[in-house]
Amino acid sequence: MSGHLTTVAGVAVDTRHWIGGQRVASAAAFTDHSPIDGSVLGEIARGAAAEADAAVAAATAAFPAWAATPRAERARLLHAIADGVERRLEDLAAVETADNGALLRSHRRGVMPRVAHNFRFFADRLLTLDHEDFDTRGHTNHISWDPAGPCVLITPWNAPLMLATWKVAPALAAGNTVVLKPAEWTPLTASLLADIAAEAGLPAGVLNVVQGLGSEIGDALTSHPDVRRISFTGSVPTAKHIAASAAPQLTPLSLELGGKSPLLVFADADLDLAAALAVEQYDNAGQVCLAATRLLVEESVAEEFTRRFVEKAAQLTQGDPREEATDLGPNIHPRQLEKIDGFVRRAIAAGARAVIGGTRLEGQYYTPTLLTDVAQDSEIVQEEVFGPVLTLQTFRDEAEAVRLANDTRFGLAATLATGSRERAERVTGQLVAGTVWVNCFFVRDLRAPFGGSRHSGVGREGGTWSFDFYCDVKNTVSAPKGWNGHG
Ligand code: NAD
Repeated sequence: MSGHLTTVAGVAVDTRHWIGGQRVASAAAFTDHSPIDGSVLGEIARGAAAEADAAVAAATAAFPAWAATPRAERARLLHAIADGVERRLEDLAAVETADNGALLRSHRRGVMPRVAHNFRFFADRLLTLDHEDFDTRGHTNHISWDPAGPCVLITPWNAPLMLATWKVAPALAAGNTVVLKPAEWTPLTASLLADIAAEAGLPAGVLNVVQGLGSEIGDALTSHPDVRRISFTGSVPTAKHIAASAAPQLTPLSLELGGKSPLLVFADADLDLAAALAVEQYDNAGQVCLAATRLLVEESVAEEFTRRFVEKAAQLTQGDPREEATDLGPNIHPRQLEKIDGFVRRAIAAGARAVIGGTRLEGQYYTPTLLTDVAQDSEIVQEEVFGPVLTLQTFRDEAEAVRLANDTRFGLAATLATGSRERAERVTGQLVAGTVWVNCFFVRDLRAPFGGSRHSGVGREGGTWSFDFYCDVKNTVSAPKGWNGHG
């Protein structure tokens, strides 16, 4: 570390905010640690109300010119940012792995290419964003997506740059300016994104990045009267706080929150596939909002399914996320490990049995865990753990499967393993979930709507839904030619 730069995995990262096209320091700092070995990655600028106000002011000042920038030019700049992401892909992957502990191979091959794709997709979608005019008694209705204004984007630590750019790209494409606040446990790649955007030629103030603890800088951002949209991905308690903070200004919100999604395994399923889908839920050490953490298995195949699941789970390699062979890296923070272990200990005390796992390891690792003998109304079935912990329950028929699947306060996703297309259609129609996967998992397309129901979120982003949220959608009705004597 020297001055305002820290070197992480050989990459220089500026630890200051990025406001109005300038690096801005704060008097206070917070320490960023790596979950891999607890080492210090940097002393990061600890922003508060003054920095939040400065960032919103910069975004407000930059808005008119950016909103007036022709679509084609905005799209060109977003593609230039995507080029920059691709050029710095190795740096971004290495820094993200050091900061959040997710697998380097995933960052290289899946996540960072997706970050670039976020920019390319919304740039291209912008150019085709149109609605056919329609006629009302000779009057023409014309629909336009007008830029809304400065947007505050607040993101979590489990997939930092991917989730940040999932919001930044459509917000910028829409002609809005942005203040991005990354999670304090993973502040680094957002800072690199600011460098990349500046290098791509994005005008000053169009993208701003503020660092800090949510509890210290959050309110100043979310209650700011000049902010026109807030998009938040994170936990339910923070979402409620933000909604209350935004309420007096009636600032529109998009909330992408937690989940407790089910994987329903029917007796007619390919059990090998079902077991493989279940083991996939340990990806990112279980720190995936969409993870199907509740395995609901038809009674008649539960024993065989469990046998195959255990066999596959035993093949997982846990360890350093920088190693190619590793499947499960560390969990993000000692506090998160405490939380995970607490959930498991209380479940076991309440009568659950650990089929596998249930052990906290040296460092920040937790063994992949499957708990059975769990009651539907128990904490472990109802609450999001956000670690490598799954539960297994059985059901007797389709109706019971659907009842159990829907019986939490969440509704983010659901996965079905079944050999029957008719059953898949019938069950899907009854599930409360923003996304349903049938005999597959985590297949994502940016054209699709994404979001959750109930406590899993408010609103949808993705494809045109992103533009609907980030824009003021306007309908202009024009009189027929000649109506006022001028035609
Ligand atoms: P969190 O709510 O603790 O923090 C998320 C962000 O909110 C961070 O940037 C944090 O600094 C900020 N924040 C905290 N207090 C704030 C305040 N008072 N005002 C404004 N901002 C504040 O969540 P987390 O622990 O970082 O993330 C994990 C959660 O995110 C899980 O519940 C997970 O399911 C959810 N998640 C959801 C999705 C989705 O798309 N639905 C995706 C990933 C993660």
